[in-house]
Amino acid sequence: MCGKEEKVLGVQKAPGSCPYCGGGVAATDVEAKWVFCFLPLCLNNKRRFSCTACNRRLVSYPAIVHD
Ligand SMILES: [Zn+2]
Repeated sequence: MCGKEEKVLGVQKAPGSCPYCGGGVAATDVEAKWVFCFLPLCLNNKRRFSCTACNRRLVSYPAIVHD
């Protein structure tokens, strides 16, 4: 199998509110792994932000919130 695997590590509530509808923001921690013929090439964890009310992906959110 070659490709990209993603595993959701957890979801937590993020501070702030959705710029579109004002709803709550959820931070989803995702572990992404690129696999090339059974060899894991790289592993990185990232955090995605999305609105819990309108389900929009908040792409610019990580620029505002840092760990
Ligand atoms: Zn929203």
